[in-house]
Order: sequence, then C-alpha cells, then structure tokens
Amino acid sequence: MIFTDVHTHSLYSADGISPLREMVGRAKALGLRCYGVSDHFDYDYLAEGVPTEPGFRYIDETEYFRELRTLQKESSDSGFRLLAGGEFGFSPKRQCAELYAQTIERHRPDFIVNSVHSVEGHDVYFSAYFDGKTKRDAYARYLDRVRESLDAPYRYEIVGHLGYVSRNAPYADRTLRYEEFPELLDEILRTVIAKGKILEVNSSARGSGGAFLPDCDILARYRALGGEKVSYGSDAHRIDRIGEGREEIARKLKGLGFCAITVPEGNEEHAFPL
Ligand SMILES: [Zn+2]
Ligand SMILES: [Zn+2]
Repeated sequence: MIFTDVHTHSLYSADGISPLREMVGRAKALGLRCYGVSDHFDYDYLAEGVPTEPGFRYIDETEYFRELRTLQKESSDSGFRLLAGGEFGFSPKRQCAELYAQTIERHRPDFIVNSVHSVEGHDVYFSAYFDGKTKRDAYARYLDRVRESLDAPYRYEIVGHLGYVSRNAPYADRTLRYEEFPELLDEILRTVIAKGKILEVNSSARGSGGAFLPDCDILARYRALGGEKVSYGSDAHRIDRIGEGREEIARKLKGLGFCAITVPEGNEEHAFPL
C-alpha cells in the first residue's frame, strides 16, 4: 500500500480550494506517513505569455513557505512528515529558469516536481493548444518539451504527470500510448533513469483515458529499461482528493515489479515499500 502523497495543491495555488492547514489535517487523518504540498509556480506562464483564466494569480512564495515551514514544525512527529515543495512549470526561456533558481536559493524547497504545462504559448490543458493539430502532432510536441524539461538548469527531483497533454485533449481516443510514440518515450524514460530522477504516478488522470498518468504500458517500459524510482501524487486541489487511487496504483506498481515509492527530501531519498 502507499502511505505517501507528494503532489498536492492548497489555496496558495490559483486553482486550489482548501487551506493549507486543512490539507495537512486531512493527510494526517488518512494515516499518511509522508505528505508533500507542491503548489503551482507558474513562471513558465510568465516567460511564455500564456493566457490565464479569470482569477489567476501567481503564488505568494514568501507567505507560502512561511506558513508551510510553520506547519512543518507543528505537525511533524515520528509517524508523520510534512514536506514543503513546489510544482515548477517548465519553460526553456531563460527568464523562467532564473526565477526558479531564485526561488530555490531563497526557500530551499524539500522537493520539486518538474512539470510541463505550457507548449508554444498555451497550457496544454486548454483547447486552444489543440487547434488545427492532430493527436500525433499535439502529443509529439508535448513530449519534445518534456524531454527538454529534463535538462532544466535547476534542481528538481520528480518528473510530474507524464501524459498531462491527454487530460483534456479533444480526441476520441485520448490515451497516450507507448506504442504510438516509442522513440520519444524511450528517450524520456532513459533520461529520467540516467539522471536519477523519480517518475511520478499521478492519479488525477481526468479524461486521459486511463486511471492514472502515465499509464501501465509506459510504466512497464520504464521498469524494463531499468527504472526503479516512482513517486505517487494525487494532484489533489482540495482535501477530499488527497490520497485518491492509492490502492489501485500500489497494486499495479507491484504487478509491474516496482518495490517501493521513493520520496525525495532535499539531498536525501526515502523508500517506502509498496
Ligand atoms: Zn501539473
Ligand atoms: Zn499539480
């Protein structure tokens, strides 16, 4: 079973619903041993001029880390560890990398989820990205950007939601399948392994066609190439979704030959047997 969840969002994210303190309370009540908050740092939006939804705001990173660190001191005990992290949306633009380097220098997050949300000036969750593109084209461009993100010139530990492009894609068959992009996915998976990064299994699959991202075919390939390190994240944006889908993911991961969930904390990694 899985007793960790290290990809979640609070009210500090523009699309979060629940206050930080309530998220932490819920994680404890669920019996999690390690709980990570990873609110959105959308400096990719800033660098690429991505159009934003009404009500969008960038994170107040000083206040965010101040509250998280206070809660960390209060809530951590021998059976529970709160980690103060961030989800960093990737852009290859220098402005974006400089902002993330500053955030890391100032706040020393316990862990960083490196995620691709924007491609060609659009968040690929929104329909404008897909205008005039076939599935092959839209997904290949997204995967190229994921490959590029692995060379981000700043610290990160977790490769977030591989397959995010499929969550809200307008195609009848949305699933990102290994067999459709074997070269691009092999290049990504081999690089994750070579760099010692952790591949996330994200249970917020939404309309992607599967129960989690990436799906079993890609996870099986990762394992076959020698990949061992996986993390679990619910990507919860409100308290009732924390830890969602853990049973099924634990079962599937075990079946694929994975032994443990890896949780990063600064320069260290902790293994939680499945
Ligand atoms: Zn994300
Ligand atoms: Zn997220």
